[in-house]
Amino acid sequence: MEEQTVFHKILAGEIPADTVYEDEEVLIFKDIHPKAPTHLLLIPKKPEDFVPSIADLSESTQHVPAMLILKAKHFADMHDINGYKLTFHVGKGGGQEVFFLHLHFFSQQILSAH
Ligand code: AMP
Repeated sequence: MEEQTVFHKILAGEIPADTVYEDEEVLIFKDIHPKAPTHLLLIPKKPEDFVPSIADLSESTQHVPAMLILKAKHFADMHDINGYKLTFHVGKGGGQEVFFLHLHFFSQQILSAH
């Protein structure tokens, strides 16, 4: 059993998150310490997609980063965000603090109400 991270707790509803999008596969919410005008985090919702880090990917979870990237693209399209940066921090040496695979989405554009 993996350690319960803050993102497990968000998915379980034990900690609130500022959610901007959700479907069956992904939850997208605002980073609590934004480093850009728009700074979002994308996390998988299905337990079989949970993996601590890119460094822990296996054949059964290799689709997860692509799924998160595609969800980021769809989110950007939906909100007319035409420039953004996507980042995975990998391992402590890569600046990763929360060991629940997540994709950072940064944009200089402010998220408009949709
Ligand atoms: P990383 O360095 O890739 O592990 O990034 C973890 C990110 O999660 C950081 O940018 C934190 O600001 C963010 N974070 C931590 N706790 C929360 C929370 N409760 N709600 C939203 N973002 C969070």
